[in-house]
Amino acid sequence: MISSVQGQRIVIDPGHGGPDAGAIGPAGTREKDVTLAISHRLRDYLEARGAEVRLTRATDRSVARPDAPPNEELQARCDVANALNADVFVSIHANASQSSRASGMEVYHARRAGTAARRLARVEHDRLAGSLPVPARGVKAADFYVLTETHMPSVLVEVAFLTNPDEERLLANPEMQEAAAHALGAGLEEYFISGRSCPVAPGAYRSLQTA
Ligand SMILES: [Zn+2]
Repeated sequence: MISSVQGQRIVIDPGHGGPDAGAIGPAGTREKDVTLAISHRLRDYLEARGAEVRLTRATDRSVARPDAPPNEELQARCDVANALNADVFVSIHANASQSSRASGMEVYHARRAGTAARRLARVEHDRLAGSLPVPARGVKAADFYVLTETHMPSVLVEVAFLTNPDEERLLANPEMQEAAAHALGAGLEEYFISGRSCPVAPGAYRSLQTA
């Protein structure tokens, strides 16, 4: 059985890294570690199904130079996907709030996103909603840098709130990281199945053109 992600170029962006820890939970869990762990598991899921996966960072580091201003760092992440002419871009984050009671998962696309990115956000949201024991906050539109400066359908996932003690425990739990990764992987499979308008996968066309 050939997976719909076979031959697809998928860039996964583990939020933050290096000197930028991202959000930090009350027990000390760092967003940059959670996003990297989920990203590694998602990469494994997709590579096992034949996808061409690239992480913007595979270790605890910056993508641009360590002391780069925020927009240069974010542009470096977009550059990875744009240079590769990726089919999709998925940025993974954990949420933060002033209130320790804020909870749940949400998925973003850019405000002016096309139908493909909106559909990707919807399938990722719905798959996560079916697998994580946290409230589903919905698909939302926001112009995060990595969503507006990538040239392919792109989404940003906030898996849960690191500032909520219960959700911090979930985010730090390897089983939950695996569940999130599987949900995101299954969402990508669904996205590429339903987006196919002809019997030949886009990846197959590309290899014909470059042969
Ligand atoms: Zn973040």
